Formats: sequence, structure tokens, C-alpha cells
Amino acid sequence: LLALDGVRKEFGGSPVLRSLTLDVAEHEVVVLIGASGSGKSTLLRCINLLEPISDGSIHLDGEHITDPRVDPDGVRRRIGMVFQAYNLFPHMTVLDNITLAPRRVHGRPRAEAEEQARELLARVGLSDKAAEYPDRLSGGQQQRAAIVRALVNTPRLLLLDEVTSALDPELVGEVLTLVQSLRADGMTMLLATHEMGFARHVADRVCFLDGGRILEQGPPEQVLDAPEHPRTRRFLQRFA
Ligand code: ATP
Ligand code: MG
Repeated sequence: LLALDGVRKEFGGSPVLRSLTLDVAEHEVVVLIGASGSGKSTLLRCINLLEPISDGSIHLDGEHITDPRVDPDGVRRRIGMVFQAYNLFPHMTVLDNITLAPRRVHGRPRAEAEEQARELLARVGLSDKAAEYPDRLSGGQQQRAAIVRALVNTPRLLLLDEVTSALDPELVGEVLTLVQSLRADGMTMLLATHEMGFARHVADRVCFLDGGRILEQGPPEQVLDAPEHPRTRRFLQRFA
């Protein structure tokens, strides 16, 4: 479904992603781990075309999306992305946050967009929050609403960048449960996290990023419990 081939990314001449190759199959959940600055967020931002790549190519459903002639909005419509925090517009209700893009960008009738939004909100246990403003929600509720907003376009791929790292530990579980239920539904996801427990529970495959390269990858029990590379071992020791 997603293929990165020899992707290189530089900021002001210094390489952040180095000839990175990664395939994500349909329905697969791939988790990126690695030290701060290893390039996880940059990788996700390149896929969503928020950053231009310096070399290599990215294909989505066989389409070369890093071709300069491609319309980035058309690509982003097929990809949902949720960040660490501040995903929702503070001056809009939860329902308006979720239906904004479908109504404004895709021209869908309000009633239809709201019906779908309410169904999704019910699914994530937020039916009673549709009319609230984001600051009246807990961090975990805000992130669940943000994930709902990323799902309204029925994306082919969901990119999640540390969606739990701004949350109090007791709120992490509710976001984790949502990600697990999306996984059970077959949503293809690529996510970055510093939570090894999260990685272990949702990943089909874990990739350890080091200095802009995938140093090691495999099933979570292999990479997290029996890492081959000394650098992976050293990284994981911090979480032991
Ligand atoms: P963290 O775990 O802290 O979120 P990360 O793995 O997501 O880290 P990135 O945010 O991808 O790391 O950053 C990788 C490197 O790229 C860092 O050295 C960072 O300073 C650099 N970088 C990221 N964005 C920019 C930018 N817009 N301009 C210049 N350098 C950048
Ligand atoms: Mg990051």
C-alpha cells in the first residue's frame, strides 16, 4: 500500500533520513521507535507531503506521490494524520472540528457529514461531547476526537505521531484501545511512539530508527525482546 524507496531528507545540508526504504502492506500496523531526533516525525511528515524529500520516491497505492506534478491535497485526502497535541481547532465544537474538512474541502452536505461524525463519535465513546469545545475535554478525549477527525475521509492510511505522549498515563489506555480497534478493523497504520508497551500491543512490525536509517525491524517480540543490534539494545535499556 505504501512504499518508500531510497528516501533521503536533508535540512540545510544535514541528512535526517538516509536512503530509507520501507514498505507497509494493506492492513499492516508498523511502529517506528528510536531516540529523539532519529527522524520519526520527519518520516511521517514526508509521507503526508508536509516536507519535500531530497531524493528517492514514495508510492501510495502504486501512485508516485512525490512526483512534483502530483496534487498534495489529493494525496492528503487519502492519508489521515494525528499529532502529539493541538490537533483540534479551539474555537470550534468537536462536531464542527470533525465535519469541517468534509463540508468545506469535499463539499459534502452538512447533514450527511454530521451523521457520519456522530456515528464515529459514538464508536469512540464521545457521543455526549459533540457540542463541546475542545478545552472542555480531557487530553485522551481530545485525542480520540482528533483520530475521529482523521477518519472522516475514510483514509487509506493513518499516520499517528506520538498521539499518547502528551497524555497523563491513565489516559493513554483509552487512546491505545481506540488504535487497537482500528487495527481490528483492518486500518493500515504507521505510527511513531516512545511507549514500548503501545508498540508491543499494536505493532505487526517494529522499526528501530537510528540516525535516519532503519537499523533493525521485525515483529515486536523480536525487536523489543531480542534485538540484534547493539544500538537497539542500548536504546531499549532506557525503557527496561
Ligand atoms: P522525537 O522523538 O523527539 O519526536 P523524531 O525522531 O521525531 O524525534 P524528527 O523530529 O524527525 O525526530 O527530527 C529529526 C532531525 O531533523 C532532528 O535533528 C531535527 O532537529 C531535524 N529537523 C526536524 N525538522 C526540522 C526543520 N523543520 N528544520 C531543520 N531541522 C529539522
Ligand atoms: Mg517526533
